[in-house]
Amino acid sequence: MSLRPIHPLHHDNNDHDDDHPMSSIETPLRADAFIMDDEVKIEKIEEHFREIMNILGLDLTDDSLNGTPHRVAKMYVKEVFSGLNPKNHPAPRLFENKYHYDQMLVEKEITFYSHCEHHFVPIYGKAHVAYFSTGKVIGLSKINRIVQYFAKRPQVQERLTVQIGREMERVLQTPDVGVVIDANHMCVASRGVGDTNSKTGTAYFSGKFKEQSVKKEFLNYINSR
Ligand SMILES: [Zn+2]
Repeated sequence: MSLRPIHPLHHDNNDHDDDHPMSSIETPLRADAFIMDDEVKIEKIEEHFREIMNILGLDLTDDSLNGTPHRVAKMYVKEVFSGLNPKNHPAPRLFENKYHYDQMLVEKEITFYSHCEHHFVPIYGKAHVAYFSTGKVIGLSKINRIVQYFAKRPQVQERLTVQIGREMERVLQTPDVGVVIDANHMCVASRGVGDTNSKTGTAYFSGKFKEQSVKKEFLNYINSR
């Protein structure tokens, strides 16, 4: 596995709020994370988000603003952070590899939208996923679903990359998986250092993908138009 640091930019000042440490490959969730059901979560987040807006001095009686706390709460629970909840875990069906296709399969340019767990602003980009079948295959759209599931969490790009790679290994029962992610981080672009052009690349290579020739074939394919 080779991972590049999430920030290509070097910070020589002491803006620690721009550091992006990753504590573990597993998303740090508490054991009681899903005792509360979605509807209760939405109600509670709505309350707290209304309070944040109040503190900021916004007039919540304004027509344009009064629905915002509920919209944000629903979006968090049902959409952008729905990948935290194991009940939304995709369960892809496996098929026999009837064609005995034994070459690399690549699905490239899977668009994803995630959120930086340090700033709660979007990370978005493209994921490229490849594997060698050991006798089973899954529908291509299922690879998209795996990417989306792990993207819909507060994330750091390195963890997202590894979580997708490990899930592909587990689901396809193959040790040969490659994942490359190119992403834009709004926390780098729209605030902080304000770099709108930098992109961050991360990669996960297991099994055959650690071989130079295989890695090269995968990367060439990603870079071809
Ligand atoms: Zn961030």
